[in-house]
Amino acid sequence: MSSIAENISGIKSGIPRSVRLVAVSKTRPANEILEAFDAGQRLFGENRVQELLAKKDLLPKDIEWHLIGHLQTNKVKYVVPFITMIESVDSIRLLTMINEEAGKAGRVVNCLLQIHIAEEESKSGFTIDELTEAGKSGTFGQLENVNICGVMGMATFTDDKTQVRKEFKFLRSCFEILRNDFFARDRNFTEISMGMSGDYQYAVEEGSTIIRIGSLIFGERTKQNNK
Ligand SMILES: *Cc1c(COP(=O)(O)O)cnc(C)c1O
Repeated sequence: MSSIAENISGIKSGIPRSVRLVAVSKTRPANEILEAFDAGQRLFGENRVQELLAKKDLLPKDIEWHLIGHLQTNKVKYVVPFITMIESVDSIRLLTMINEEAGKAGRVVNCLLQIHIAEEESKSGFTIDELTEAGKSGTFGQLENVNICGVMGMATFTDDKTQVRKEFKFLRSCFEILRNDFFARDRNFTEISMGMSGDYQYAVEEGSTIIRIGSLIFGERTKQNNK
């Protein structure tokens, strides 16, 4: 079995330098995260607030944390003081709450708009219509303490590569629509976060700027701790 360091360098050698790698460390213990850190990795993703808070205090302060899982509005205040990016913003209510808490914390928080691109109903995210509507009503411009940096999406979990590619293409087209219509003068709106262990190569080919990889770095997660 190859080491965490080897896995990271293997992935990095196969993607353009401009694409950033989020090492998804959910369910993984602090010592494994430290192993990746010692190999030079600084950007990590977690999907649960409780787990993130417990781990971050055990780890170096210069780690950049991305939240990639559904965030409940009552937990926003716990992550806003330190989080580098919230990739999983899936409602205007949540975005408004992040803006409010970021104001209290004296920060501007980087966010991505999560868009529902998969066939599975279970995956969360906005529809493009919801975002267009929010854009037209001027919502994005009113949020002074959030920095909307782009979009995020999760493709359907399937071996059908045509389907997966189609979903990545769709996410990219959503990014372009939003940029052209609402963020044309916003230099921060540049990110398309798509691609996981099983599909990141396709994602990169379709224009991903951030890939989020867990099992290919740390090994398979067991069923019980998968979510
Ligand atoms: C778990 C997770 C990943 C990483 O999944 P792998 O298949 O282990 O690479 C990426 N993005 C999100 C939102 C996740 O929850």
